[in-house]
Amino acid sequence: MMVGYLLARAGVDVIVLEKHADFFRDFRGDTIHPSTLQLMYELGLLDEFLKLPHQELREIRGIFNGHPVPVADFSRLPTHCKFIAFMPQWDFLNFLAAQAKRFSTFTLHMQHEVTDLLFDNDRVVGVRAKTPDGDRDFRADLVIGADGRHAITHERANLELQEFGAPIDALWMRLSKRAGDPPQTLGFFKHGKLLVLLDRGDYFQVGFVIPKGGFDEIKQRGLTALHHDIVEMAPFLNDRIHELDDWSKIKLLTVQINRLKKWCRDGLLCIGDNAHAMSPAGGVGINLALQDAVAAANLLAAKLKTRPVSVSELEEVQKRREWPTRVIQATQVFIHRRVVTGRSSGDDGKLPLFARLFIWFPFFRTLPARLIGLGPRPEHIHSPKAEVSI
Ligand SMILES: Cc1cc2nc3c(=O)[nH]c(=O)nc-3n(C[C@H](O)[C@H](O)[C@H](O)COP(=O)(O)OP(=O)(O)OC[C@H]3O[C@@H](n4cnc5c(N)ncnc54)[C@H](O)[C@@H]3O)c2cc1C
Repeated sequence: MMVGYLLARAGVDVIVLEKHADFFRDFRGDTIHPSTLQLMYELGLLDEFLKLPHQELREIRGIFNGHPVPVADFSRLPTHCKFIAFMPQWDFLNFLAAQAKRFSTFTLHMQHEVTDLLFDNDRVVGVRAKTPDGDRDFRADLVIGADGRHAITHERANLELQEFGAPIDALWMRLSKRAGDPPQTLGFFKHGKLLVLLDRGDYFQVGFVIPKGGFDEIKQRGLTALHHDIVEMAPFLNDRIHELDDWSKIKLLTVQINRLKKWCRDGLLCIGDNAHAMSPAGGVGINLALQDAVAAANLLAAKLKTRPVSVSELEEVQKRREWPTRVIQATQVFIHRRVVTGRSSGDDGKLPLFARLFIWFPFFRTLPARLIGLGPRPEHIHSPKAEVSI
């Protein structure tokens, strides 16, 4: 949606295809990072955007073995907004879609599921989509595959994927929110376990990290044991844990970390989770996907306005974005190994050393703030704005 918006803004004819009928998915995370808010500011959309219901998080705290620890302080970031805005991602996508529709060069087709790529010899020249009216072919100078971690585009293009292995999965569920509940945190860490609560107004979206492949064992232990595990981490949930009275209310989300060796081939560019699936660790995948979109528009928009782009021009996008991706994915692998799967999480109930460092030296909180809030090599809007595009 972001790259579609930016290309249409530059006067390039864009069609965005989305397989679902709406954007109401609850498993994408709710974080709008300071870097994204900066993009909204640069695009002149920030004031309108911030009118949407959201919460502003200026400091992230984690609860380690029951002790609150400030982990990231956004107040010193060199951005217009020094906070993460928590907003359901469907609100963000609907907002961007509404803004993009103001450009005559933008079209959004919902319920259009890409099922295949169209080829002319070796070049990708479009996609085939399943629509409510049957199959339909869309031809294009460039296909941008932003179809997430189960992408069909990179699979059909035979692009090679490197898996880095994630030792965790997540259980995803809802619990009601009540007056007096603690404010938004990074998560509750205890004995190598992690519980994340995303405040969505009248309910919490709950993420409970489990060992990869461990869901069957959890089911065998029974719902009461799971209730106990959750309440042990966040005791204030005890009065509503019974809301999880059926396994159908508990979804398993598999976590992956992987990266394409090549993000493009003639006529196709892959970005976001399609090019590099992100773990939820640190809550940064949305930021990285958006940064890819901005880099792609910066590098390609002016060219696409006049002609198709070459493979070497598409490779420039990977060159620009691969390094930030590597840094973040390496950090996520580290978090999985060290923090979430227990090796330094303080199994004795005490605070792990890294958590103490955050308390003793406030300066240490600026590094996670930069990594989470901006990411390495933050992008800025340099793609052109067409004169008569609205
Ligand atoms: C449990 C979990 C929690 C997470 N929490 C956070 C968080 O709090 N903060 C954060 O920053 N990151 C989080 N992440 C990571 C984040 O969700 C991703 O990195 C991010 O959504 C990637 O964005 P994307 O646009 O590349 O892909 P997606 O958000 O997956 O979007 C892909 C889009 O393409 C559509 N699509 C897919 N296939 C097709 C097709 N064939 N045809 C047409 N349309 C198609 C999908 O419907 C979807 O709209 C989380 C990940 C997981 C697994």
